[in-house]
Amino acid sequence: MGVGRRFADLVAFIRYYAKAKRGGRFRTRAALEEWQDRQVRTFLAFVRSRSPFYREYYSGLDERDWQRYPMIDKTIMMAEFDRLNTVGIGREEALSLALEAEETRDFTPEIRGITIGLSSGTSGNRGLFLVSPKERVMWAATMLGKALPGSLFAEQRIAFFLRANSNLYGSVQKRRIQFQFFDLLDDVSVHIEHLNRYQPSIIVSPPSMLRLLGEAQMRGELNVTPAKIISVAEVLDPLDQSFLSTCFKQVIHQVYQCTEGFLATTCSHGTLHLNEDLLVIQKEYLDREQGKFVPIITDFTRTTQPIIRYRLNDILTEQTVPCPCGSVFTPIVAIEGRCDDLFYFPSVKNGELVPVFPDFIRRAVIAATPDVREYRVIQEGPQHVQIMLRGPEDKRQEMEDAVAASLCHILEGMGVRPPVIGFMPYEFVPGATKLRRVERRFTLV
Ligand SMILES: [Zn+2]
Repeated sequence: MGVGRRFADLVAFIRYYAKAKRGGRFRTRAALEEWQDRQVRTFLAFVRSRSPFYREYYSGLDERDWQRYPMIDKTIMMAEFDRLNTVGIGREEALSLALEAEETRDFTPEIRGITIGLSSGTSGNRGLFLVSPKERVMWAATMLGKALPGSLFAEQRIAFFLRANSNLYGSVQKRRIQFQFFDLLDDVSVHIEHLNRYQPSIIVSPPSMLRLLGEAQMRGELNVTPAKIISVAEVLDPLDQSFLSTCFKQVIHQVYQCTEGFLATTCSHGTLHLNEDLLVIQKEYLDREQGKFVPIITDFTRTTQPIIRYRLNDILTEQTVPCPCGSVFTPIVAIEGRCDDLFYFPSVKNGELVPVFPDFIRRAVIAATPDVREYRVIQEGPQHVQIMLRGPEDKRQEMEDAVAASLCHILEGMGVRPPVIGFMPYEFVPGATKLRRVERRFTLV
């Protein structure tokens, strides 16, 4: 990489960083939406000129109506990959290169300077993502701008837990900001020793790993005093959130980002806000009263693989009261998880399957007894649920009875038939797979 190029990257980095820092500069919601509308229209003009797929998909549609354009999802995006991206990269070429890189883990695949990313998921259902060098700089700068406390020039030692070091993260290497990557597949004892030496000012990690670190901190094996802890990549369960804030004596922050976009960040108050300076997030309500919705995202900052009116497979719960921080960006109570983890039980009335939000299952377990330290609830069929509980062994029976009663009570109140519940000892090893405390394992027909 030439010096000129590096300088240009640095200038861009500082610009995006500063922009992300003042992200909340909109005085009113109306001002934000008007600005977003202009961003999207400019973006659409570019995309229509470069992407054969979108040109055809939106043919004859008025640009002022973009909020009602037909949607896309992962299936469409992958099926139309070649014609959708604006850099002429073919799916087969990108996929075989990405798989090869994953196998060897020793290079980051690139085609003509564009980084190829492969999202996690089941083998047939993995997403393929393209990121240009400019977008990579922007991503890193925006992420740091939104997540870092203080200024860019304050020194930071960041401990970043992830599955494998990739180029995408590697670009966040600035002089005053040190990055250490911790491979989630390594043993926790290795991490503890490493963290004690490194003394990070910021820890970024999935909550399942933070749990282990928090327990080590409580036992006195881990001795760190980070200024900020950011939970990523997995749903932050209210149980883990309160446990971790007790362990580390601070608010646990969150960054909600997936390969499709950088969706939300917590403010100084610990409230998650949608990153509406980067994306338009429309709501497809699943339950308006409860404020539960599926986000439909339009990312007007990424042009390599444009994401327009893309329906995510996640459930979010909006917060109805404004956040005291004063931001006009939509506050979110929680990211509930994936739509695939909605539970379904037969209705008492007619036997039809009724969806039950993961949040209700969570609350039923947490409210049952303060003895539950960790749990997993797995629905294996409309009438079969397995529950794993971790808590004091001498209270196991009481714990199981309380959780079963609480769950049945909530379900009966919803007019559905409670399932047969089986109990198992708690089991989960962070690293290879993402922790889902509420998980559905059967598919709907
Ligand atoms: Zn806020």
